[in-house]
Amino acid sequence: MSLGVRVGIGYDSHRFVEGHGVLLGGVLIPAAVRCTGHSDADAVCHALTDALLGGAGLGDIGEMFPDTGAENKDRDSLEMLRLAVARIRAAGWVPAQADLTVIAETPKIGPHRPAIRERLAETIGVAPSEVMVKGKTNERMGWVGRGEGIAVIAVATLVRSEG
Ligand code: MG
Repeated sequence: MSLGVRVGIGYDSHRFVEGHGVLLGGVLIPAAVRCTGHSDADAVCHALTDALLGGAGLGDIGEMFPDTGAENKDRDSLEMLRLAVARIRAAGWVPAQADLTVIAETPKIGPHRPAIRERLAETIGVAPSEVMVKGKTNERMGWVGRGEGIAVIAVATLVRSEG
């Protein structure tokens, strides 16, 4: 029996290097660091993409956008999220809601929360009220605590599309 509702979880992390801002959910947050990665290294988009693909039972971001692919080098992660949502919709599922936690000592997420919520919501096709983004430090413990990078956890709900 299928419930008509699915929940997916996603996780992503990226290493910090010296730079001028951290891209999260398509919003560039001013900082003395940036994230490195094969694509544009937007950990918020990557975690949310994985949560949505997982909930739909459609694998993961690494399968859909291999980091060995030249076409994915420096790729816009909002575009990858948009393409993942198109695939999810084609499989009969619609994103309903998402909740994310960003774990990093810096930068602070709070001031940028409305912009990130709006950008993500627009990309996955829900109202901004249906996307939440929360910032946490790691209390200076471990690699996150030493400021070596950023981690993001995302949960997303999908509902079966009608017809
Ligand atoms: Mg990533």
